[in-house]
Order: sequence, then structure tokens, then C-alpha cells
Amino acid sequence: MSGVPPVSRIPFLRKAIAAATAAAVLAGCSSSRTQGPAFTTKGLRPPPAACEVKPSRIGLAEKIRNISESNGCQVPNAWQVQELGSVRFSQDAILNCGMAEPLYGWLEDVVQPTAQRSFGESVVSIDIASSYACRPRNNEWGGKLSEHGFGNAIDIAAFTLESGRKITVEQGWWGSDDERRFLRTVHDRACGDFHTVLGPDSGRAHHDHLHLDLQNRENGSVYCR
Ligand SMILES: [Zn+2]
Repeated sequence: MSGVPPVSRIPFLRKAIAAATAAAVLAGCSSSRTQGPAFTTKGLRPPPAACEVKPSRIGLAEKIRNISESNGCQVPNAWQVQELGSVRFSQDAILNCGMAEPLYGWLEDVVQPTAQRSFGESVVSIDIASSYACRPRNNEWGGKLSEHGFGNAIDIAAFTLESGRKITVEQGWWGSDDERRFLRTVHDRACGDFHTVLGPDSGRAHHDHLHLDLQNRENGSVYCR
């Protein structure tokens, strides 16, 4: 190979390589699913900024700067939440103010009593898989903006009990009887206080977490699956 001159010394070859590269890039663009905007916000209403209960009154939370992106992602009353009631979060959640109170209510009034009945102990923490995230629903390019883009949704992947036992949505949904019953009960009883509740039965995108959101639908309907 020592007899072959470098590509840069062969103008024709260099041009041919440049043209081939450009063609490949163009082909990649025209067939790519990532062309156009990542999501649409058509028909979506951001959550209200006003909020009845300050998250810092019901947990460990601090007000942060509101989020307003030019592409439509926005959190009109943004808070960073580490803990609600007796339940710690595995990582800080960025949420719109209005999410905190129903989440607190569900944890205290549904999750804790259900954990006591199912396992004889309390939940001490939950694994947060996602909170604010500026992305389309189910990460499908070109779809509607996810409620995560409004800080109006939370994804919970697991519940950890006092003993250290961890109930994950991925394993527990089809796990032992007590885990199955616990997860289905907390899923079902989130419906109503949250406007959208999605779990593993809703499809592959939610096989490993519960999604809870407060989508601000004009007709006030709820969707739980
Ligand atoms: Zn989600």
C-alpha cells in the first residue's frame, strides 16, 4: 500500500468521494423520519399556571425558573420536587405546580394504604423515569407534544418499600399476585385525579412505567389504560 498516493493528491478521486458523501447525506435526509418539526402542539392547551397548593407545603420542593421554549415546550409554574409527603423521589422531578397536589394525594391516599394491604409495609421512595421532557408522545417524531413537554406528566418505574423490596412496573405487572394486585390498584385509582393514566396494558411504550398526567383537555375527559 506504500505505493498508493494519499487521496488528497488525486483531485478526481477527492471530488468523487465528496460527491458520493453529499449524495449519501441527501439520501439520508429524504428518507429520514426526523425531517420536519419534532412534534406538533396543535389542539393542545398548556396547563394552568395557577395552583392551589404550593408543592413546598406538602413536600421537599423548590420553585425554579419557569420554562418557555420557542418550540412550544413550556412549564408555566415550574417546581423541582425531591419528595412528597413520606415518599422520596429517586431523582428530582421538574413539574408544573398543579402536578404536586394530586401526586401527593395519590401517594398518601392510594399508594400507601395499598402497599400496607399488599405487603404490610409502606413505600419509602419511587423511581422517577421522567418528568419534564421536551419531546413528542412515545418519542414518535412528528406526533403531538407529550404532556412531559408541559411539566404536566410523571413516569414512575418502581416503588421501594421500607424493607428495601422494590416493586418495578416492568417485572411486577406480570409478577407475583401481591405485586400484580398492588400495581393494578394504584394504576386504576390514579384515574380521575389524573387525566391520563397509562401502564403496560396500554402498549409497548409503557411496558416499564406508569405515566400519570393532567392533560388540559377542553372537554375534561380522562383516558386511562
Ligand atoms: Zn410519560
